[in-house]
Amino acid sequence: EATTDMSTFETLESEVRSYCRSFPTIFDKARGYKLWDVEGREFIDFFAGAGALNYGHNNPQIKSKLIDYLTNDHVVHSLDMATVAKEKFLQRFQQVILEPRKMNYKVMFPGPTGANSVESALKLARKVTGRQTVISFTKAFHGMTLGALSVTGNSFKRHGAGVPLHHAVSMPYDNYHDDVDSLSLLERYLEDEGSGLDLPAAIILETLQGEGGINVASNTWLQRIEDICRRWDILLIVDDVQVGCGRTGTFFSFEEAGIQPDMICLSKSIGGYGLPFAITLIQPKLDKWAPGEHNGTFRGHNLAFVAATEALTYWETDKLEREILRKGEILQQALNSMTAKHPDTEPEVRGRGLMQGIAFGQEGFAEKVCAAAFERGLIMETSGPDSEVAKVMPPLIIDDEGLNKGLAILEESIQAAKN
Ligand code: PMP
Repeated sequence: EATTDMSTFETLESEVRSYCRSFPTIFDKARGYKLWDVEGREFIDFFAGAGALNYGHNNPQIKSKLIDYLTNDHVVHSLDMATVAKEKFLQRFQQVILEPRKMNYKVMFPGPTGANSVESALKLARKVTGRQTVISFTKAFHGMTLGALSVTGNSFKRHGAGVPLHHAVSMPYDNYHDDVDSLSLLERYLEDEGSGLDLPAAIILETLQGEGGINVASNTWLQRIEDICRRWDILLIVDDVQVGCGRTGTFFSFEEAGIQPDMICLSKSIGGYGLPFAITLIQPKLDKWAPGEHNGTFRGHNLAFVAATEALTYWETDKLEREILRKGEILQQALNSMTAKHPDTEPEVRGRGLMQGIAFGQEGFAEKVCAAAFERGLIMETSGPDSEVAKVMPPLIIDDEGLNKGLAILEESIQAAKN
């Protein structure tokens, strides 16, 4: 029987609990950008399943396709057999996403999570190049499995591995140092055979670091990395797990930079409905897998195919893109104006599109803001290695009323956190 307090979780769930500490209630229902707990309290969602709910909770259009699929006993689980749902997804992805962008990629199903996608990309890069080293960046987040963790720049999470995390070299991300151009340094290292840096198999990056604290890389920085990759024959992997599927205003986060990654990792919102799903896009020349060389039980789930296929409808026109940019501007203006009233909190507004946040100078302040927001009916999480950023990431389909209401609560919460 459902309880209305947290006692079951206190006794039955392990100490690895994290989000349930930030949001200490039991959630029951959700629709669009709203969630309700068992007591019927309503919350506005500025968290969106850490980026998995771009199209909102229980999106009605996607839900009806899932219900039809289930009602008609179509295949739900099939390992990676060929199914009608899979075929439709592949065709639609090609037609709606790849072709209009003149992108030529093969789709690989690496397993249900973002970490699975990253693992598949790292493994394939090493297999194809015959090299071992992968370059990643400070504050990067790529997942919790050992390969993905090896390229994750978070010492707290890395410590838990308990074994050496091999063959990854961490470089400063864009703007990490004000006074060091780390890419020139990298080039000099690559040029110098005596530098001790083995020629890398790949460089992996996020164009905007979500977990790392809403750090935005400039287009120039991304273009320079692409150039380095081409000159030294290094594979470029873009991890678009969190910021792909429209978060920044375009389907892929790197479209404005005009770069062409060798591999692209997508998960979270590619599943459309919050269903576990991931894909790794690979340039055709990289398709060097032998059958069965990289497999898994949940490599492409048919319910996720159905949801993901329907979600692509949002990308048939540029309406959603225009809306994300418009709402992103409302968000940025609101964050700028509310932080201007509190210079003593040393705020810095960061981000792009509907992935923005406020970094606060004072230790623990962002956590206080998010706790105050929760008490007032707004779900928000922190990000950054010291949880220094209050992150705003609503579903992309949020309407102006929801956005403004959430922003008003956030403003109140900043004031409340100071008291
Ligand atoms: N890459 C990025 C950029 C992410 O933000 C995340 C998840 N926060 C992952 C990879 C890992 O995804 P998952 O949690 O599904 O393994």
